[in-house]
Amino acid sequence: MKPPPFAYHAPATLAEALDLLAEHGADAKVLAGGQSLMPLLNMRLAEPAHIVDINRVAGLGGLRADARGVRVGALARHAAVERSAAVAAVQPLLPAALRHVAHPAIRNRGTVVGSLAHADPAAELPAVLAVLDGTVEAVSAAGRRTIRAADFFAGPLESTLRPGELAGSAFFPALPPRTGAAFAETSRRHGDYALAGVAAVVSVDEDLRVSAARAGYLGVAAVPLVLDLTRRARQAQAGRPPGDADWSGVAGFVRERLDPETDIHAGADYRRHLAGVLTERALRAATADALDRAR
Ligand code: FAD
Repeated sequence: MKPPPFAYHAPATLAEALDLLAEHGADAKVLAGGQSLMPLLNMRLAEPAHIVDINRVAGLGGLRADARGVRVGALARHAAVERSAAVAAVQPLLPAALRHVAHPAIRNRGTVVGSLAHADPAAELPAVLAVLDGTVEAVSAAGRRTIRAADFFAGPLESTLRPGELAGSAFFPALPPRTGAAFAETSRRHGDYALAGVAAVVSVDEDLRVSAARAGYLGVAAVPLVLDLTRRARQAQAGRPPGDADWSGVAGFVRERLDPETDIHAGADYRRHLAGVLTERALRAATADALDRAR
C-alpha cells in the first residue's frame, strides 16, 4: 500500500524543526529512521498531515558514554549504539538488547530514540530504559524537559511527549558498582518482535552477597513493566555461600505478578510462563556478571 498524502518538511536546523512541530502540533509526525513510521503510513494506521524529517538536522546524532551513563541523540542509529565499545563498557544492556532488535538492515537505519518514542510494548529498548530508570529529554520551541522512563510510556504506541515536542535524546544510566546485567527474550524467529523478554540487573554487596535485583519486561503489558526483586534476591541468597543465590523460585513469583494479553502471536499463559523462565535465566546471568565486575 501507499501512504496517504502529507506535506513533507526537511528542516536543516533544530530551531526550524521545532518551529514546524510547534506550528503543526498534533497534525505532525517526526520521521527519524522510518522503520516503524513508514509501515504505519503505508498500512494507513497513521495519517499525519505533516511529516517533519529530522535526518538533515545537524547535532542530533550524538552518542556519548561516560562514567554516569550513555546519552543517545535522536539520530543515533541502533547499529552505531550496538557497535560502540564505549557504550558496551558503560551500559552492556544496550548492545545485549540491540542484538535482538529486528535485523541488521533495520538497525542500520532505525534509531534508539525513535524506538522509545514509538513506545511499542514488545520493543526491547523501552524495557531497558525502564529497568535502568533512564530518561528522555523532550525539546520544543517552549524549552526542554526531562521525562523519567516511568512517566514516559503511556500505553501501546503512546508516549507522554506532547504535540510540538521532539525527543532530543535519551539517557541510559551506567550500571552502579558491583552490579551486573543480562537480557533474555524469546521470539519465533531471530529478529522478530519478542513474545516476552526481560532485562535484569543484579547487585552484590562488598561481601559478594546478592543484595538487590530489578527486572524490566517487554511483551507482557501495555507499557514496559518493572519488578523490584530485591526482597526475592535477599531470600535467594539467604543461608548460601556469597554469590550462590538460588533463583529457582523466582519464575513462579514473576508469573503471579504479570497479567499479559492473549493475541495472535501467543496466549497469556504462555507469555507468563516465558517471562518466568526468562527471568530466572537472566537473573542467573546478571548475578554472574555482577560477581565478575565486583571481583
Ligand atoms: P520512525 O519509524 O522514524 O518513527 C517511529 C515513531 O516514533 C513515529 O511515530 C515518529 O513520529 C516517532 N519518533 C521517532 N523519532 C522521534 C523523535 N526523536 N521525537 C519524537 N518522535 C519521534 N523494533 C524493536 O524494538 N524490536 C524488534 O524486534 C523490531 N523488529 C522490527 C522488524 C521489522 C521488519 C521492522 C520494519 C521494524 C522492526 N522494529 C523492531 C522497529 C525498529 O526498531 C524501529 O527502528 C524503531 O521502532 C523506530 O525507530 P525509527 O528511528 O525507525 O523511528
